[in-house]
Amino acid sequence: MTEAEFDYIIVGAGSAGCVLGNRLSASGRHRVLLLEAGEDDRWMWIKIPAGIAHILTGDRAIWRFQTEPDEKVGGRGIFWPRGRALGGSSAVNGMIWVRGDPLEYDHWESLGNPGWSLSGVLPYLKRMEQYAHGDPEFRGRNGPMFITRYKDHDPLSEGFIAASQQAGVPATTDYNGPRFEGVGYLQHNTRRGRRRHAADAYLHPAMKRANLAVESRALAQRIVFEGRKAVGLVYRKGTEERTVRARREVLLAAGSIQSPQLLELSGIGQRDVLQRAGVNVVHELPGVGENLRDHLHVRISFETRVPGTLNTILRNPFLKAKMGARWLFLGRGLMACSSATSMAIARSRPDLPRPDIKFQLHQLSMASSHYADNRKARNIADRMGLDTHSGFAIGTYVLRPESQGSVHIRDADASRHPEIRANYLSHEHDVRTMIAALRMIRKVASQPALAQHIVRETRPGPDAADDDALLDHVRKTGQTSYHPIGTCRMGNDPQAVVDASLRVHGVEGLRVCDASIMPTMVASNTNAPSIMIGEKASDLVLAAAGG
Ligand SMILES: Cc1cc2nc3c(=O)[nH]c(=O)nc-3n(C[C@H](O)[C@H](O)[C@H](O)COP(=O)(O)OP(=O)(O)OC[C@H]3O[C@@H](n4cnc5c(N)ncnc54)[C@H](O)[C@@H]3O)c2cc1C
Repeated sequence: MTEAEFDYIIVGAGSAGCVLGNRLSASGRHRVLLLEAGEDDRWMWIKIPAGIAHILTGDRAIWRFQTEPDEKVGGRGIFWPRGRALGGSSAVNGMIWVRGDPLEYDHWESLGNPGWSLSGVLPYLKRMEQYAHGDPEFRGRNGPMFITRYKDHDPLSEGFIAASQQAGVPATTDYNGPRFEGVGYLQHNTRRGRRRHAADAYLHPAMKRANLAVESRALAQRIVFEGRKAVGLVYRKGTEERTVRARREVLLAAGSIQSPQLLELSGIGQRDVLQRAGVNVVHELPGVGENLRDHLHVRISFETRVPGTLNTILRNPFLKAKMGARWLFLGRGLMACSSATSMAIARSRPDLPRPDIKFQLHQLSMASSHYADNRKARNIADRMGLDTHSGFAIGTYVLRPESQGSVHIRDADASRHPEIRANYLSHEHDVRTMIAALRMIRKVASQPALAQHIVRETRPGPDAADDDALLDHVRKTGQTSYHPIGTCRMGNDPQAVVDASLRVHGVEGLRVCDASIMPTMVASNTNAPSIMIGEKASDLVLAAAGG
């Protein structure tokens, strides 16, 4: 395609953008351009679920964002990777498939967003997935995202699941069904042990269509306005700057960091932020870049008697080859997931009306609790900073954090990383609930079913007994769960950025359609909800065009 004019221009081929690319081009009536800053997704480590360790210690497929240093997390700036490839963050994530607390969608609607209750979003949650189990009223059987339940019932996972029940958490075989609460094996968006991300499911099947153009390595710089109407976009490909026109709409799906960044670069946002950055104000919208929320992830680590955790496997060539062969021929084992095998959605106190914490078993333990350290080491176990003994960790987060941060541009340069203030632990609810969650992990670990596998707690260790010591551990070791949301929040109040049809308030021809529109945390991992947003957005856009 050579014409620089399209019906729709989509920015970002991530979880939501891939859905838009597919659905908007499906009828053949609309000419669609999808721009992606990253490369294609033809990389071995994207296909192999356990390859996430290679992805996050490299540069090939991620933006290496960093939060501003913050006293509340021990003065640290925290590594905040986002996907940068066809598939976006779905190409680099942990593949854990969670739709969230059904009640949270009803909450979204009650906040002034008609159509976003559970009954409004359930048709999309079903349409997007293909899962052979569970209640057909809730689960999809024919969608493009293949979902698999983790199959290897190893001693640690079994011990974790049984111990959680001994500690009072009910069992569940499907946390994506009508009941969210419970402990059980994880579901992953994999097929036969291979990652199945949004580009696999939505984009690749659509790329042969003549009316869909996909440009990778194309960095959107700013939206072009005529008055208050978005009519096109400027993007950079290599050293060349190109302008394309949108006959109908510009759709931002650049994710929670870069959708607000693009709005601000285009003159939509807080007046003082724009003026400081030297950007002309097109429309003042104070909520842009605000309401940032993420799950702060904290782990308690243990040395275990069970020999086969990733700590030992990745340091032993024979065990590594055995794990590789099992994955290659059967699509099973620890290479078919990103180290997490099972999780519990639970209440930190029995008197609560609904679950408020999640904790999950990781079949590895490491000093830094994230992947950014030791990047030069040759061995992947050293690069990840894994302990040399066999170990596991139970990681936790507060399902609905109240702490809010922000993301704003520093200047008018689209290639400059924005300033991210995560502002973790700034709300007392999050501090209190996090400490309760850590106590819950210890309760689970002390139950006979799991205690039999434990040599000792290694981090923070038994000396960290009181709340202050636990909070110190949280501040020093907490990391992102990679779930930023909310920076272009949906709603109808003065701080809202988009309305319930995802149209940016105060301008025309422009929508935001990705994780950034979530008004609150959907109480879970955010990939499935982002894909759902892409599905619902597609219908909203097509409805406005008459199909
Ligand atoms: C390491 C990691 C692990 C995670 N693990 C899980 C998990 O196990 N389960 C789960 O449910 N969720 C997980 N998540 C979160 C989940 O993947 C994201 O919430 C979801 O993918 C967000 O989708 P999105 O469409 O909003 O944005 P993204 O998928 O991030 O897509 C945004 C896309 O826009 C592109 N882009 C940005 N700016 C521009 C620009 N200016 N021009 C052109 N293109 C641009 C980016 O390169 C990217 O491809 C994880 C995320 C990460 C990073």
